[in-house]
Amino acid sequence: MTSVFKEPQPSPHRISSPPKRFLFLFSDTGGGHRAATQAVKREMELFYGDRVVVEMVDVFVELQRWPMTRFPDWYPMMVSLKSIPWWVMFRLTDWMGCVAAVSYLTWPYVGRPICKLLQRHPADVIVSFHGVPNYTLALAFQQMGWRNPFAIVTLDMVTAHASWFAPGADLYCVPTEATKRLAVRWGVEKERVLVTGMPVRRSFTDAMSMSREAARSALNLPDDLPVVLFVGGGQGLGPLGRVIQAVVDRRPRARLVVIAGRNRDLQEKLQAMSGMESTTPLHVEGFVSNMELWMRAADILVSKAGPNTISEAFVAGLPIILYAALPGQETGNVTHVVDHDAGIWAPQVKQAADAVVALVNDSARREAMAQRARALAYPFAAEQIAQQLWALGESPQLLLRPAKILHRPLWGRGFLESQGAAKLNLEQ
Ligand code: UDP
Repeated sequence: MTSVFKEPQPSPHRISSPPKRFLFLFSDTGGGHRAATQAVKREMELFYGDRVVVEMVDVFVELQRWPMTRFPDWYPMMVSLKSIPWWVMFRLTDWMGCVAAVSYLTWPYVGRPICKLLQRHPADVIVSFHGVPNYTLALAFQQMGWRNPFAIVTLDMVTAHASWFAPGADLYCVPTEATKRLAVRWGVEKERVLVTGMPVRRSFTDAMSMSREAARSALNLPDDLPVVLFVGGGQGLGPLGRVIQAVVDRRPRARLVVIAGRNRDLQEKLQAMSGMESTTPLHVEGFVSNMELWMRAADILVSKAGPNTISEAFVAGLPIILYAALPGQETGNVTHVVDHDAGIWAPQVKQAADAVVALVNDSARREAMAQRARALAYPFAAEQIAQQLWALGESPQLLLRPAKILHRPLWGRGFLESQGAAKLNLEQ
């Protein structure tokens, strides 16, 4: 793998040296950013112990500026699936000129708060696990004259928004070759882009050493029927309830397990159904913190096209039925799964229910898809990203050349300079 770094050498443990501080910027917009950020944090702590301090900060909440502080709460409503406004917004803004223009236009409002945020959370290395703030972050570093290493870990699998590839970062970790091509298309030097895969929590890899029977027993699930696991991301999004009702109506010989996430309405509605006598027993959970066990216990996953859940399913070797995708950034996830024959795209309720029944009844097809899913897995992505970030912080001199802001709209030119001349008073 080529990179802009010389090959890092293992550094000797210097007891006297202070720990290296890493600031991980993410947001609870969906469940995926937190899960992926935590995965990398855990690897850093595991590998580097007390030589490292990793701080996770929800960048929108910590900006302390309305409406950004409300983004995590509004996210489920903003992305209500199949929403045309979301698609239009994604399409209209998905080019670097627009990302730059929006960043310059909003700078007078968010520039000072983002600089203050960086001052409140001093760090040797800053890592963004979210697309939206990246260009503004790069402007803030420039404004403050900071040359701390800055990395971006892209968490969309294929059709990642241009904002992930804002110029100014030293390192871009991306999940697939397709996202690497996008990064290069938006002007990132290809040597700066490492295809690492999506960071998946170590517990998913560990769970694979367990037998399916053991996982079922740990979850108190009888081991008598194939298990179909339904997940709608962290927020239980999409028409999950209707899909499950349609599957129950078809009475396949399978056990259905639904993880409703933070969708309390869905959980309560399905819990009312689960008490009924049926050839297709239904088990309902709310938000779980042991998804790896549920995936290990399952034979089939039915999910919205969330990149984290899909990456976890690859590690777990599960065939995937995708019942919905967020237009724009999740569209490519569907292509990725279907083109590699690791799953089925079933956007209508009837199609999804038929696909479940077909896979329940065809164990050979299930196994073939499971193998192809496994082949797409990057089980050690989080570990690899952690090592790359450590190398960035430990030996910034390994950097062959500095990153720089590439895209500056003509009419925005001079703006930062004038701000620089006025010098933001960050102590206020
Ligand atoms: N997740 C979880 N417990 C739940 C539901 C979801 O830990 O009850 C995790 C799931 O394992 C995945 C993330 O939440 O890591 C969902 O991410 P994804 O990208 O699939 O969807 P998002 O919620 O971000 O739209």
